[in-house]
Amino acid sequence: MKLQNYINGQLIEPTAGQYIDNYNPATGELYAYIPDSDEQDVVQAVKAAQAAFPAWAATPAEKRGQLLMRIADLIDQNLDRLAEAESIDNGKPLKLAKTVDIPRASSNMRFYGTAIQHFASEAHYMEGTEAINYTVRHPHGVAGCISPWNLPLYLFTWKIAPALAAGNCVVAKPSEVTPMTAYLLSELCMEAGLPAGVLNIVHGYGHKVGAAIVSHPKVPVISFTGGTKTGRSIAATAAPMFKKLSLELGGKNPNIIFADCDFNNALHTSIHSSFANQGQICLCGSRIFVERPLYEQFKQAFVDKVNKLTVGDPLEDGTKQGAVVSEQHMQKVLSYIALAKQEGGIILTGGHQVQVEGRCANGWFIAPTVIEGLLPDCRTNTEEIFGPVVTLTPFDSEEEVIRYANCTDYGLSATIWTQNLQRAHRVAHQVHSGIVWVNTWLLRDLRTPFGGMKSSGVGREGGFEALRFFTEPQNVCVKL
Ligand code: NAD
Repeated sequence: MKLQNYINGQLIEPTAGQYIDNYNPATGELYAYIPDSDEQDVVQAVKAAQAAFPAWAATPAEKRGQLLMRIADLIDQNLDRLAEAESIDNGKPLKLAKTVDIPRASSNMRFYGTAIQHFASEAHYMEGTEAINYTVRHPHGVAGCISPWNLPLYLFTWKIAPALAAGNCVVAKPSEVTPMTAYLLSELCMEAGLPAGVLNIVHGYGHKVGAAIVSHPKVPVISFTGGTKTGRSIAATAAPMFKKLSLELGGKNPNIIFADCDFNNALHTSIHSSFANQGQICLCGSRIFVERPLYEQFKQAFVDKVNKLTVGDPLEDGTKQGAVVSEQHMQKVLSYIALAKQEGGIILTGGHQVQVEGRCANGWFIAPTVIEGLLPDCRTNTEEIFGPVVTLTPFDSEEEVIRYANCTDYGLSATIWTQNLQRAHRVAHQVHSGIVWVNTWLLRDLRTPFGGMKSSGVGREGGFEALRFFTEPQNVCVKL
């Protein structure tokens, strides 16, 4: 299967006619070709977006919202097809794609299709001076949206939905590792009747297509989700051009378990927060800190449960752990396991590649891995691994665990398990992360600000934050 770019309302080949191989990580087989687009394709996409912008910006918000909701309906109608495509492209269990990834993609479109109809701007009346200020929020023009491979359609739509709802036209680039559902989405946008040029999807490598979007002078706003290193290079290009930037970057999130927690809930949820999507979610709690009186009990029960997670064919119903996304990524994760051993870590379970029988014999699988005995500030505990690998560390006091939690450069999310309400708030306020969950994990209300502190990012997505990001406020002051 050959994927195509979606530019000016049409599916077209990349200008240079080159393609990238696309592999199924569960089987290791080549199964599709992705356009290896370059700057010429980006220039064409930006032209189409610029041409479509005046009419799209002038389209009433209600009408723009209706189009987004039509796309959401089509995503729902194609749930099975999209979920299967996501699972094959990414290696994640089909069940996860069907219950989380694809439903969330349609929720994103629906959420912003309706949110734009409630989005209001401020007015400031100046008493005494008899003047009124009102703020107009203009769309920027062409927005650049760049997304990663771990939650492909989920994160792709999380960016394009608010950008389009706010009246921008978009040039978007999905990850070259998992482009399939963004390609299928372009077909659905055509079916929904989205006007030509409003959304353009250019496939290809980050250093070619992504870099061309970021450096294009007619793309004044960039929304990026991906690695911290990539975010840094994007910021270096965009900052001197005074572009508006939203950066959602890596994480190394603490999962803090106090001895007074609801044990079963903490245990059960920690399995998900450690290994969902093979640990390839930026919000996974990869550093588990357990208060010492509970440490041995938790460790034993946790390792027992991890040993029961079935690693296997992502398309099979009982599979809990699918393939990691690529051979290269598998090697990176395995190198971190080797590093953990060098740093003195003890592998309690996992720690190796898994050979799955049958159809998936050549796929890229890693056993869910639990490591203990490491210092909180060692490389394994401070660098993002982004795979099915967690560490266990005991602690004796609140002060100590807050110090451990904060000793990485990242600050995306944290989870706290305790039944002591005061402690929950106290610890939450001292942990340096943009998102804190207490007695739960990954419970998302799309209205809330989403994003990280420190090296985990700049800016916030979600709710009206994203609509503010994708608009330029202009104050008009009228003397009465
Ligand atoms: P990545 O940075 O390698 O790639 C992300 C996207 O950027 C891809 O589309 C890629 O092609 C593109 N890109 C690469 N180089 C580029 C360049 N020079 N200019 C412009 N674009 C470029 O990240 P990844 O490996 O795809 O994703 C994993 C990372 O994403 C992890 O660090 C993870 O924590 C992070 N992530 C963060 C969040 C969040 O919300 N904070 C969510 C999901 C993933």
